[in-house]
Amino acid sequence: MPSIPCPNCKTQIEFDLKDILNSKNFTCTTCNIKITLSYEDNKAALKNAKEKLDELKDKLDID
Ligand SMILES: [Zn+2]
Repeated sequence: MPSIPCPNCKTQIEFDLKDILNSKNFTCTTCNIKITLSYEDNKAALKNAKEKLDELKDKLDID
């Protein structure tokens, strides 16, 4: 599962890419800050994760 570092405590927060596309909010499990992940706002950070996901999809041959 892809993850991003918490902007406050640097804990790696796992996320599902489709949650980002739905602009879901996340809460850091370590410091409990709320993080809103928007794909548009986090393109650079998420691009790599998305590419990996696409690559994985190709390998698994799923939709
Ligand atoms: Zn945190």
